[in-house]
Amino acid sequence: MMAKDKQIRVRMAPSPTGNLHIGTARTGLFNFLFARRHRGIVLLRIEDTDAARSTAESEENILNGFARLGITFDEGVMSDGSEKGEYGPYRQSARTDLYERYLQQLLDEHKAYYCFCSKEVLDAQRESQQAAGQSPRYVGTCRSLAKDQVEAFQKEGKRGVIRIKVPDGKRKFMDLVRGEVEFELGLLGDMVIAKSLRAPLYNFVVVVDDFTMEISHVIRGDDHINNTPKQLVIADALGFSSPAYAHVPVILSATGKGKMSKRDGGTAIEEYLAAGYLPEALVNFLVLLGWHPGPEQLGLDGSPVGDREFFVVEELVTLFDLDRVQKGGARFSLDKLNHFNNQYIRRLEPSYIVKLLIDGDFVPQEWLEHRALLERVVAVEQERLATLGDLRTEASFFFEIPPYDPRLLVWKKSDALSAEENLQAAREAIKAGADMMALAGERGRGDLLWPLRVALSGLEHSPGPLEILTVIGKDEALVRIDSALDKLSSLTTPQNFSQ
Ligand code: GLU
Repeated sequence: MMAKDKQIRVRMAPSPTGNLHIGTARTGLFNFLFARRHRGIVLLRIEDTDAARSTAESEENILNGFARLGITFDEGVMSDGSEKGEYGPYRQSARTDLYERYLQQLLDEHKAYYCFCSKEVLDAQRESQQAAGQSPRYVGTCRSLAKDQVEAFQKEGKRGVIRIKVPDGKRKFMDLVRGEVEFELGLLGDMVIAKSLRAPLYNFVVVVDDFTMEISHVIRGDDHINNTPKQLVIADALGFSSPAYAHVPVILSATGKGKMSKRDGGTAIEEYLAAGYLPEALVNFLVLLGWHPGPEQLGLDGSPVGDREFFVVEELVTLFDLDRVQKGGARFSLDKLNHFNNQYIRRLEPSYIVKLLIDGDFVPQEWLEHRALLERVVAVEQERLATLGDLRTEASFFFEIPPYDPRLLVWKKSDALSAEENLQAAREAIKAGADMMALAGERGRGDLLWPLRVALSGLEHSPGPLEILTVIGKDEALVRIDSALDKLSSLTTPQNFSQ
């Protein structure tokens, strides 16, 4: 357990081998909230030991994604790529000298050794172990090679790898989410911790980093739980104290069967931002993937949160803690995300939404030339939008009425003649500024409002006609009604069969 006065220091440690993933963003958010909650430090460390797969583009995408979600870091690699803090560099590729020193220490203390077994030999051993129903592990051939034997191999040009001596017995740790976890160390075998002094592997560098950066809590996806005993063994050998661990649940697909994949929705944060999901809505949605506040916890308004699901980040900072992170996988539901995003869009001022539409390039350039119209469109449409990107298709009829079949103007319980009559009556009412709903009362709602709505929108489903009218205005409405009447005449005028 941590001494009470010791500062909480957590880290987010992405590998820059792809775009910022939903799961990484969620884990980043948990680290961020935990650090804020406990007035600690959250740092970002780039885990780029896999040089072949690490790219500058991925790193930029990850930094940018976190920044856009409002997940900020106090130390480490900042969103502009600079590095800040006294424990740096925060990029594993720049810490090779440090890792080398610790590898050398383990070699000198005979806690690690060079292994020269060939791939063929190792493969054969693995196969025979598997055939005998044993779990495969290194048998320890090179464990006690004499120093001169090692040197002789090296002189021959054999490079060898570095393995750590794994003790027998069990190793326990207390996971803050999972509870007590116990591993049989014998199953691990002596692990390779480095390809060479200058090429350490993931489990080794993480241990050195977490210790030298004084990390108090490792909060990470539970796909890493099998790495934890390995890391504990390495830490023990180095004489390091270990951080507390909290393994947070994987994100499952909506059906709960298997991990979330592309079929459930995109897995990259960037895709969601580009589609017009608001960062605040994403954060609110992400935090509930594996965590929920206790109903008795108090919200910012001082009352218990109950089963409330909408939270601003300032509130999450006061509510979040690891004790309410769930063990079981968290299901990803795109419907839920859409619902959240819609709720967030509803709450925004139309003028602010217009700004977001412009900044995010969500609507055609021509629409921006009619700024006042666009703002009225947004005011009417915002309650229907799942994403800002939806506006482009949902609202294009306001700017330009689509071609439509004249038969759409005819309400299902009526006929073309009635549609024509009602549309004429609606036209007069609009011209005179008369009360349309009173007229609808007289003529029948469906009879009057259906043809009017279709005349104004050209669509089977749209906002109501009066809403559309307030957006497009009287003049444009009359033009659209006239064109609808024109279309209707093709249905109501008897055909001249003598032609
Ligand atoms: N670099 C690892 C990853 O991206 C994270 C390792 C850790 O959190 O310990 O999955």
